[in-house]
Amino acid sequence: MTVSQTPPPLLSASSLHGHHVLLLGLSSLTASRCAQLLAYGANVQYIADRDLSQLPISLKDRIEAGEVTFHDRAFDPSDLTTLGREETDRIVDRVFVTAEGSEKDTIVSQLTQPCTRLRIPYNISDTPPVSSTFTILATHSSGPLHIGITTSGQGCKLAARIRKEIISFLPSNLGEACARLGQLRRQLQAEDKLYETRVGLDTEEDTEQPSTFNNLVRESDTSPETLKTRRIRWLSQICEYYPLSHLCSLTPDDLEALLTTTPAPEGALTAPEAPLPPSIPKSKKGSITLLGSGPGHASLLTLAAHTALQTADLILADKLVPESVLSTLPRRTPLHIARKFPGNAERAQEELMELALAALSEGKNVLRLKQGDPFLFGRGGEEVIRFRKAGYPTKVVPGITSALSGPMFAGIPVTHRSVADGVLIVTGTGRKGVPPPPPEYVPNRTVVFLMGLHRLEDLTAELVGNGFPAEVECAVVERASCGDQRVVRTTLSRVVEAVKVVGSRPPGILVVGRACEVLREGGLGKEGWVVEEGMGEGW
Ligand code: SAH
Repeated sequence: MTVSQTPPPLLSASSLHGHHVLLLGLSSLTASRCAQLLAYGANVQYIADRDLSQLPISLKDRIEAGEVTFHDRAFDPSDLTTLGREETDRIVDRVFVTAEGSEKDTIVSQLTQPCTRLRIPYNISDTPPVSSTFTILATHSSGPLHIGITTSGQGCKLAARIRKEIISFLPSNLGEACARLGQLRRQLQAEDKLYETRVGLDTEEDTEQPSTFNNLVRESDTSPETLKTRRIRWLSQICEYYPLSHLCSLTPDDLEALLTTTPAPEGALTAPEAPLPPSIPKSKKGSITLLGSGPGHASLLTLAAHTALQTADLILADKLVPESVLSTLPRRTPLHIARKFPGNAERAQEELMELALAALSEGKNVLRLKQGDPFLFGRGGEEVIRFRKAGYPTKVVPGITSALSGPMFAGIPVTHRSVADGVLIVTGTGRKGVPPPPPEYVPNRTVVFLMGLHRLEDLTAELVGNGFPAEVECAVVERASCGDQRVVRTTLSRVVEAVKVVGSRPPGILVVGRACEVLREGGLGKEGWVVEEGMGEGW
């Protein structure tokens, strides 16, 4: 069933502070609307053809206390141009109608035309949203964080319920965390004397990261521009990747430590609620397990992974392991997340190794939790060698790799009879930032690029330069298996522009080949690309 074909409304947050608003009529909603408007800092001009004694007590009290100006007469269209602020030539800023019955009909018949002409936004309660120029959202506020819900008139109770459900999923101190992170962001910007537009970072209004968000920063890159933007990029990435519960538990000191390149104080990222595990006698030899956590959806953890997670004394997770998986970890087990941000990959890896070896020497069961499969671009082999040298044999538990499940979640069968006989999985990023040689074009083969989207423009140029037809179909699959999964279907010739327009939502893969066409329903759109949000039915 299609719910509504009307285009979506622009949701925005407006300040009513000091604005002159008209509140018209009387209904069961009037007193609460008035309280709401006062809380927003508005100057409320209340007009109703009533006696003060007929008004609800709370409204009467406010009028008598001088918080609200009461005009005990019927609304007149001239009120629109006389009761406003001096700065707006007395034209009022907004109108809120809370009348009912014939009073409402009269007000509405007098109001809408002049308001439209004067561009005064008006809201008429208990009417379909089309009869008002703006609707009021069901909101939740916590410090600087404000969340608003609208069902476009499908039911305010329903909107309130949805709001409640969303809030219940969020950490209770998220507002404080927003304030803390915002302050840090401003501080960094001031220190760097940079504006986000210059460095191409996200603005709050953007729904997506810009396509430059995940650009590679090499450790060896010490150019002033990189050094300047590094900390603010780190902050952006912390906001992007850290589980919200972790973000909320970070103290200003933790944040400071995160932004410096020296290792954070030990345990800085340990979940605060996690007590230290009972100390284990020194004689016991520690064990190490490399564990693949799958592409993101918690249900894609294997049973073996689940069991290993329950018995770990310390969990060292990669940056990419998403909250949905981290939230399944036993709360008692200390967790450290890799501080792998642009330009800090090696150091972050080294830090994890050191933490692992220290815990192993204390006889602990250490679990290295890795995104996808540990042996597919997960540095799993390197870690096995390192632990082996230190005298600890490593158990490796496979995970579902994003390289194969990503295309699957995008409805792309990487092999398909007479279309694709094979699949090639490659990295789009070479070591130390040197691009790997592009694969040769084989028409009957699907190529999956991991770690390639940050250099998509160069990558696609290299592919076309190496014989890939510009019109071959491809797909950018981001956050496969996560709630915010997104697939952009297009061709090599259009993919760079598509990603520029829609922004990036890391991590993501690029899938290239005719397999992309096999299950695609519908065309590639006027612009040459289509965007699909979410995981689809049944997830
Ligand atoms: N070992 C991992 C890959 C690690 S390399 C695995 O087997 O999946 C990191 C790259 O994996 C990212 O740059 C991205 O290309 C890809 N990736 C990881 N998780 C992903 C996901 N949920 N959706 C799309 N791509 C993902």
